[in-house]
Amino acid sequence: MEVVDDYAHHPREVAATMEAARSRGRKRLVLILQPHRYTRMATFLDGFADALAKADAVVLLPVYAAGEKSISGAESSDLAGKLSEKGVKVELASSMAEARSILGKIWEEGDLFLFLGAGDITQLARRVAEEAELFFQIRLTAGKEGVVRWYEPMRKHTTIRIGGPAQVWFEPDSEEMLGRVVAICDEKKYPLTVVGRGSNLLVRDGGIPGVCVNLGRPGMSQIEAVGGKIRAGAGARLKQIVASAKAAGIGGLEFMEGIPGALGGAMRMNAGAMESWTFEVVESVRLMDRKGQVQDVPAAEFEVKYRKVPRLTKDIAVGAVLKGSSVQPEDIAERLKKYSRKRWDSQPAAPSAGCIFKNAETIPAGKLIDELGLKDTAVGGARISPVHGNFIVNQGGAKASDVLALMEKVRERAKADRGIELEPEVIVLGEDE
Ligand SMILES: Cc1cc2nc3c(=O)[nH]c(=O)nc-3n(C[C@H](O)[C@H](O)[C@H](O)COP(=O)(O)OP(=O)(O)OC[C@H]3O[C@@H](n4cnc5c(N)ncnc54)[C@H](O)[C@@H]3O)c2cc1C
Repeated sequence: MEVVDDYAHHPREVAATMEAARSRGRKRLVLILQPHRYTRMATFLDGFADALAKADAVVLLPVYAAGEKSISGAESSDLAGKLSEKGVKVELASSMAEARSILGKIWEEGDLFLFLGAGDITQLARRVAEEAELFFQIRLTAGKEGVVRWYEPMRKHTTIRIGGPAQVWFEPDSEEMLGRVVAICDEKKYPLTVVGRGSNLLVRDGGIPGVCVNLGRPGMSQIEAVGGKIRAGAGARLKQIVASAKAAGIGGLEFMEGIPGALGGAMRMNAGAMESWTFEVVESVRLMDRKGQVQDVPAAEFEVKYRKVPRLTKDIAVGAVLKGSSVQPEDIAERLKKYSRKRWDSQPAAPSAGCIFKNAETIPAGKLIDELGLKDTAVGGARISPVHGNFIVNQGGAKASDVLALMEKVRERAKADRGIELEPEVIVLGEDE
């Protein structure tokens, strides 16, 4: 793959630069344009459309206004419309972060990415060129033993459906392959983040730098019931663990059923419900350190706090043995039904990241937010749920910046009116746009 950055911003310059780029003999020419000034777009819209029609794919950023007011009919969407009419594959990016997500999606072997414009698109070109290296390195290391994606939109992997692109998204097929990538990241100082089902995450709009690892592939999420215990990979969904435990007559794990996470995330968060919590049922954790070395560690060796297991903020849980007691499957089914009813009476169905704040010592966060009269308050597409004050829901199109602004509003009011410092429960990852 090749990345070229050029200052061309007039249709004739664009056409000439594209011709030169074609002569490089790459398989496809992908053109990323940041139109410069509305007046130029208004004057040369057809000229731009004619020039760009010769690309194999086009990504358009918003017009770089350079101080001008917008002009109707001279937006990037107008140019996209003309290109679509000509049968060109065109995508509109509302931001640099979205442009990265689009490039990660449409990228093909043998592409030439040609970035054109006179605004600040040069920053995007440099970033893409630099960040491609890590993607290719992890892709080469993983070979066929996992899924590797470039600029994967994190909104696809969070229950609140928000989040900019992960620089590299990696789903290993095996512990061994995970270990190799973890060791590379450690040696080269690449940031590495583990993402489970994304049900307690808020990923900022600029995305997550480095490698994001997800353990959802079958080799990392298997579940087996042996000798009255459950052995599961960290990628196993809690719902499936509970179903396996029920089938094997292992009781005591029912509280996990409605928690929409995977085992690794539940252990890191010490997730809990119905007066029980995860580490009550963990016997041992299969742990990988940041050098990629694995060992089984008894649960008793972990410091366990309210919604935090400090050792798992560094080491990676790759699996665990869970204990329970012998219970008839019908009794487990009965308890599951009761818990499910209780949960769905008190929790919003709209996309959320679970509880936003930890409960304060003196009052549950949801009750406090309710008493402050903040239920139903909104910023952009984010709203405090009218069903439960400690849930922020995405009403459609919310950005992480909306959620963070709403959280700040709540924190300020809690401090000003009640002297309470609310601490986030949701894990905030990544960088601003
Ligand atoms: C509708 C709804 C209801 C919820 N109800 C509850 C509830 O009743 N009780 C409760 O406690 N929570 C609840 N949550 C929050 C959330 O489901 C839990 O915290 C869950 O355990 C998170 O698991 P996850 O796989 O989604 O982790 P993620 O959200 O993906 O990650 C959470 C944290 O764990 C880390 N992590 C993930 N996997 C690993 C691993 N393998 N090793 C080390 N670290 C890892 C991540 O880096 C991150 O810091 C709810 C959320 C929603 C959306």
